[in-house]
Amino acid sequence: MTKTKKLINNPDDIIPEMIEGILGAHPDLLGRTGETGRAVVAMDGPRQGKVGIVVGGGSGHEPAFVGYVGRGLADAAAIGNVFASPSPEPILEATRAVDGGAGVLYLYGNYSGDVMNFDMAAEEAAAEGIKVRTVRVTDDVASAPTDRAQERRGIAGDFFVFKIAGAAADRMADLDAVVAVTEKANRATFTMGVALGACSLPQTLKPNFSLGDDEMEIGMGIHGEPGIRRGPLETADQVTDALLERIFAELTLARGEEVALLVNGLGSTSQMELYLLHRRVKQHLDEKGVSIHRSFVGEYVTSLEMAGASITLLKLDDELKALLEHPCYTAALQVGIVSSRANGHAGVGHGISKTAGNRADAVAASSDAIAGERPGGEVTPEIFVSMIRNVGAAIETHKDWLSELDGVIGDGDHGVTMGIGWSAVGHALDEVSDNDDIEAICKRIAKAFLDAVGASSGPLYATAFQRAGASARGRAGLDGAAMVAFIDAAANGIRERGKAEPGDKTMVDAWVPAAHQAAQALQDGASTLACLQAAARGAEEGMNATAKIAARKGRSSKLGERSLGHIDPGAASTFVTLRAMAEALERALR
Ligand code: ADP
Ligand code: MG
Repeated sequence: MTKTKKLINNPDDIIPEMIEGILGAHPDLLGRTGETGRAVVAMDGPRQGKVGIVVGGGSGHEPAFVGYVGRGLADAAAIGNVFASPSPEPILEATRAVDGGAGVLYLYGNYSGDVMNFDMAAEEAAAEGIKVRTVRVTDDVASAPTDRAQERRGIAGDFFVFKIAGAAADRMADLDAVVAVTEKANRATFTMGVALGACSLPQTLKPNFSLGDDEMEIGMGIHGEPGIRRGPLETADQVTDALLERIFAELTLARGEEVALLVNGLGSTSQMELYLLHRRVKQHLDEKGVSIHRSFVGEYVTSLEMAGASITLLKLDDELKALLEHPCYTAALQVGIVSSRANGHAGVGHGISKTAGNRADAVAASSDAIAGERPGGEVTPEIFVSMIRNVGAAIETHKDWLSELDGVIGDGDHGVTMGIGWSAVGHALDEVSDNDDIEAICKRIAKAFLDAVGASSGPLYATAFQRAGASARGRAGLDGAAMVAFIDAAANGIRERGKAEPGDKTMVDAWVPAAHQAAQALQDGASTLACLQAAARGAEEGMNATAKIAARKGRSSKLGERSLGHIDPGAASTFVTLRAMAEALERALR
């Protein structure tokens, strides 16, 4: 497969370098807040008594999301890795920076990775006394049927929903009112897209899906998630007709009504082509007697260099129209006339800026009990560290395989994401001290993973290690029973965090049989090592069985039946993880 050319430096630095570029280009508009470097706040946005708006998501959708940070629109953005949700920490930093006492609204496209990370941040913000509400954008008509519209993905419609929310907040509406009008805008926003060609992640430089030279795919997601119909490439008018047909099936427009229209390029489709689409949409609307109040044509929510476009309609009423016209000043959108730093409002950091000190403390070693008095086992903290290091090595080896699996039924980032997470874990292990017991080590692993990763797998694996570590509380080491409890706690943590059950085709389908077989082995009198080996076998069988089920959770759930025949990438990384732990333990005990 040929590699894509990109103007990049070290792919591992691409996000910080992009953020540096954005801040350097718009110093009057944007500033950094917090320690992670991944939270960007409007110089002139957050203010006392105003509802704060935090948006966010993975990178690769530029100008979304940070391009919509500024006066009259979003107050801050949390920035994830390419196509991966930001982790809770930058979301919290953004939250603290924009909280002006009137509460904060989280706004993002509906993806399970973003949902879990933003929810974890919301839980912590609540613990700090900040009121947070959430509206998830669900405009992608192709991603679920009408009766399950709340499960739909968010794509280019983010643009309209963000705009409406930002305007309502800028007009000093209270949190309930901002939420209500934002939900209304989301219900009135419908998008359909078409893809003509793939994009490639900077880390792999390989196309994240393949589409024949003369093929197109209707309904494909902005991370290359499979769509609803693949076929020979059609003309601009035919494609527009097909996209509109799906939108009009959802959105009834009466003569005399008004819409806002966004014709969005996904990254490498020319303006010329986008105007052809606009031309055809207008013909249809004219025929219906529907007028376009305002059009936007260009790149508003992209998918790296993906070829293709989407059409979004927002059905307007007087309230939405006024909010759409409300002035804003951001890097990617200016409406009306607002000067930066209007009215002399305070800039960055005027919001509540609490220090993050207490979070760091949570990572510190938890136990000062005397090792001799505590139950132990073959798996000492030292051996445990070697097992975890071996997981990092195994993930590195199988990275491409995991990304390929995810490319088929997801967005192609799982190997990249796991690689980033486990390399952060490797650095965290360098900090482990002699006083750290297994629980303390697990806390370090969980925090490193969560901070580095985002995506779905960040909160899932982080929760697994938090819970597994807690199961070993007070122990000097793990014996067979403790090992089984450890695996069981990890499995339950993942089930609770992701709210997935066995049979949904997720990593749960590997963790549950792993825990089950480990418990069975223990009952049969197996050694600690044999219990862990049984877990790895359970994970392997569970992983293979995921090929026979249709996805119901996560990104691939949109595929349903079409995910049959493919194993789940998270189940695969679970198997890699448990097998690597078992192999390292075997070596250590030899
Ligand atoms: P993302 O889906 O955000 O791109 P990854 O590609 O890193 O994240 O991880 C995808 C994997 O996460 C899936 O293969 C699946 O195993 C797991 N997953 C996704 N959502 C859930 C969920 N709600 N519960 C359990 N596992 C999930
Ligand atoms: Mg993925």
